[in-house]
Amino acid sequence: MLRVGLGLDGHLFEEGKKLVLGGVEIPAPFGLKGHSDGDALLHALTDAILGALGEPDIGELFPDEDPRFKGTPSSLFLQEALKRAKAKGYRLVNADCVVVTDRPKLSPYKELIRENLARLLGVEKERVNLKAKRREGFCREEGLFCQCVVLLAADE
Ligand code: MG
Repeated sequence: MLRVGLGLDGHLFEEGKKLVLGGVEIPAPFGLKGHSDGDALLHALTDAILGALGEPDIGELFPDEDPRFKGTPSSLFLQEALKRAKAKGYRLVNADCVVVTDRPKLSPYKELIRENLARLLGVEKERVNLKAKRREGFCREEGLFCQCVVLLAADE
């Protein structure tokens, strides 16, 4: 059995906050606004896995108003999604992710982020792909967007 999942997330920039994307800290004068560490890439990836499983989404499982998740590393959300996948007998075939932003320039960090995503997912790097795209003038430069697609497989 194969199941595909899609996750999309956007966060506004916040001056002075640590920027974390895909669990990697990236030098920048701003981070991403959010109740947790604001890691929109891990949020999109988590939602893609949850979506493939037909589970509730990240906002339902980890509500913004819950003080337990304030400032929490978003890898915690991904771990929960992976736990649910494992409980249903699914493993990750591959994940393909896109980050849309003009700043900071992500090319120096793409490999690092990809390696960290693979580590967090518990798969080899070849199963994870990451693309960085520019806004090309669309929307205001006030934040960034991430989109992830995952394929999960289970033995019948
Ligand atoms: Mg989010």
